Amino acid sequence: MKRSTMLDRYQRFVGEDLLERIYHAAEPLSGLRILHVNTTAQGGGVAELLHALIPVMDELGINNTWQVISLDDTSNLFTAHLVDLLQGIEHGNIAQEDQHVFLDTLHRIALKSGIDHKQADIYFIHDFQLAPLATFFPQLRPAIWMCHVDTANPDPGGKDYIEQFLDAYSVCVFNTPLSIFNDLPQEKTHVITPTIDPFSQKNRFITPAKGLQMLARCGIDTTRPLITQVSRFGNWKNPWQVLDVYRLVKQELPSVQVALVGAMEAADDIKAMEILKDIQGMAGDDPDIHLLYDPAMIKHPQVNAFQRYSSVILQRSTREGFGLTATEAMWKYQPVIGTSVTGLRTQIIDGQNGYIADDTETCAKYTLKLIQDRELWQKLGKRAHERVKDNYLLPMMILQYLGARSRCMRRMRASCEEWPHMSSEGRSWLHTAGRSGLPKSLQRLSFVN
Ligand code: UDP
Repeated sequence: MKRSTMLDRYQRFVGEDLLERIYHAAEPLSGLRILHVNTTAQGGGVAELLHALIPVMDELGINNTWQVISLDDTSNLFTAHLVDLLQGIEHGNIAQEDQHVFLDTLHRIALKSGIDHKQADIYFIHDFQLAPLATFFPQLRPAIWMCHVDTANPDPGGKDYIEQFLDAYSVCVFNTPLSIFNDLPQEKTHVITPTIDPFSQKNRFITPAKGLQMLARCGIDTTRPLITQVSRFGNWKNPWQVLDVYRLVKQELPSVQVALVGAMEAADDIKAMEILKDIQGMAGDDPDIHLLYDPAMIKHPQVNAFQRYSSVILQRSTREGFGLTATEAMWKYQPVIGTSVTGLRTQIIDGQNGYIADDTETCAKYTLKLIQDRELWQKLGKRAHERVKDNYLLPMMILQYLGARSRCMRRMRASCEEWPHMSSEGRSWLHTAGRSGLPKSLQRLSFVN
């Protein structure tokens, strides 16, 4: 198979063996057409992953297209409620009327985007809220549902809502084994661990002089210690606790500053403005609290500089499917002080390459310790970098994606083999489920045939 120059660049990080496995897995899939569907082209982990993945896949001879379905404000509110249920933060059933309005709108917006005319061999539906698409449009099959949120402890109401759409998927993919829905058949589930691209603008090396200059341009006094959290202004990123930690540390170390870095660019991040206002109120007129949300100012090089040259990086999430912000910081030799949520405890080994602490006081204690003991900070940071190098670099994810594709195709073949006498109409039915097989919430909708 022809070598990919993009993939070969990673050899010095991941070794030839892994690259060989990727070429081997990609060869039979050459010429395959993949359609990725999600809700935003910029902002958040999914967009980040697709920007990194698609060019390399293309060079491997697998044709990828990416379709963004931008939802409206009402649908984004529904999504915000749904993610709270799926992540087990909220509880209860979703009102039938709300489901109806959302499904109706999603169907309308998706039709308008022309998705029903897209043709591919496999459809990757990223973003949990888009799960109904494979039921709405049976031609979007075989399909793989990608769940990137923290579903380790979902509320049963949210899980039931989502699961009614999962029959239409050949494979359901989760970020970690902890997030897999335990009632899905094992052969239908797959884990793809998110990874980062060490060559991207966000992750490549920048010199201290350049990095510190970028921080200074954002208003940071680079002669004083800086605590940073990089994250969207989202509820479950818990920016409030970052300020609480900062205030405790400030009592001991008055020179400390804090930065919350979260460019407002994800169109589907409906609650961000509300949360930012709340945080601004909490910050008051403290000049050492830096809230950096202007996307014109906070671009990937600035995120890089903050992750690389802050004194300490926090990730205080109350839920996290994976948490690429932690991976990125760890790659930059930062021991992250995270919480015990699914994605962070997957990456951080407490006391070895960072710390896991849920309460404010313990987090403040570790923050102060890492600011004051730079030898310790350096030692843990080196291990953090190694952890990412060994587990979370782009080629590792490429191999897992190729595995999901093969698995999907195997499952499609297997379902035909289970019924050896099935007619060609029957086989085509496999791709176009009849109305009676539809989830209850869809049967009453007039547009589903
Ligand atoms: N991000 C960014 N600019 C910001 C804040 C976040 O580019 O101001 C990126 C961040 O570097 C990471 C992604 O958005 O690559 C967030 O992914 P993560 O998995 O941490 O969380 P999600 O936002 O998907 O819940």
